[in-house]
Amino acid sequence: MSITSTSLKYRNTFSLAVKAADLIVVDRIELMLKVWQQTQNRKMPLLVLGEGSNVLLLEDFSGTVMINQLKGIHIREELYAWHVHVSSGENWHNLVCHTLKIGIAGLENLALIPGLVGSAPIQNIGAYGIELKNVCEYVDLLDLFTGAIDRIPVAECGFGYRESIFKHQFQTGYIIVALGLCLKKKWQPMLEYGSLSQLDPAIVTPNLIFHFVCSLRRKKIPDPHNIGNAGSFFKNPLVSAAKFSSLISKYSSMPHYPQANGQVKLSAGWLIDQYELNKYRVGGAAVYRNQALILVNENNATSKDVVDLARYIRNSVASRFDIWLEPEVRFIGAMGELNAIEVLSCKNGQVQ
Ligand SMILES: Cc1cc2nc3c(=O)[nH]c(=O)nc-3n(C[C@H](O)[C@H](O)[C@H](O)COP(=O)(O)OP(=O)(O)OC[C@H]3O[C@@H](n4cnc5c(N)ncnc54)[C@H](O)[C@@H]3O)c2cc1C
Repeated sequence: MSITSTSLKYRNTFSLAVKAADLIVVDRIELMLKVWQQTQNRKMPLLVLGEGSNVLLLEDFSGTVMINQLKGIHIREELYAWHVHVSSGENWHNLVCHTLKIGIAGLENLALIPGLVGSAPIQNIGAYGIELKNVCEYVDLLDLFTGAIDRIPVAECGFGYRESIFKHQFQTGYIIVALGLCLKKKWQPMLEYGSLSQLDPAIVTPNLIFHFVCSLRRKKIPDPHNIGNAGSFFKNPLVSAAKFSSLISKYSSMPHYPQANGQVKLSAGWLIDQYELNKYRVGGAAVYRNQALILVNENNATSKDVVDLARYIRNSVASRFDIWLEPEVRFIGAMGELNAIEVLSCKNGQVQ
């Protein structure tokens, strides 16, 4: 266990200059339990962080930030599949590269998603037509109260669009310590999403998809090393069929994706784009010029700049479309996670 620095500027991809009372890098489960016990004894909050690529740190954190560094990848071969057991502190993109390098396909569409393996199940990461749930076999969860590690099979993870039980009943007092993946030997390319459909299924390889996805992402998504951001700030909204039919009668070009349950998924980026907000700024925070769904720390933004910008966007979209966007990014206050919708609904202490 090593106590390093209290600055979190390089621990969140928004690069917001907030601090923590304490910061501890942990590479063993016993140390996780020890740190938890210490924070409990001191009645201080604990925040587990991976690479901070899905958080908006609203203010200085009053407790201990625990950086997960649990490492290890174990691969077991069966007749029809590879079973990959990965410790939660491994970097997700490195795992994608590693599996492809040793001839195991299946993760190529999920290349270049920032963050750690242990964070991937929390919002069921997804891109280019694949979600984690498609390859996940189980999640190993450390119960900090008992010290036990429970294996949650994929069917019990409550995976949905940017959803899982790890955001709800297993949010406080639990740490994801490992992930199990099942990657089928009989590989089938997933080319249905967007410009992947340009690729010829007869000759495509996992490596080709990997490089294609990486180059698309590098063109569209800002690299947090160059400009602070947390990827998509809002989720794509799901609306009822009735609401959709009234919207499409007014906005015929509106992109839409019918869902199995009858709801229709809309593009939050398109809704925001209708306001031409790409030149809109609050302090140092701005809407990214190539992708309206991404908010960026353009010039030493404060957390308040980002919140005020997000609130402005959300209110604008609601006033025209009567759709309230929900943040995908997790909002973290001084004592822990806050309800992002409540934060965006409040101005000067007054809820709308
Ligand atoms: C440029 C960019 C592009 C992105 N593109 C995508 C994309 O295409 N698809 C997508 O789905 N997401 C995307 N994201 C979001 C992000 O990459 C994912 O949500 C990722 O899984 C977050 O990983 P992290 O380690 O950075 O999590 P963090 O931000 O460190 O943590 C996120 C939350 O999980 C909790 N947490 C972290 N680790 C653990 C653990 N081991 N146990 C329990 N709780 C834990 C934290 O307390 C926090 O509440 C993007 C982000 C960026 C910056």
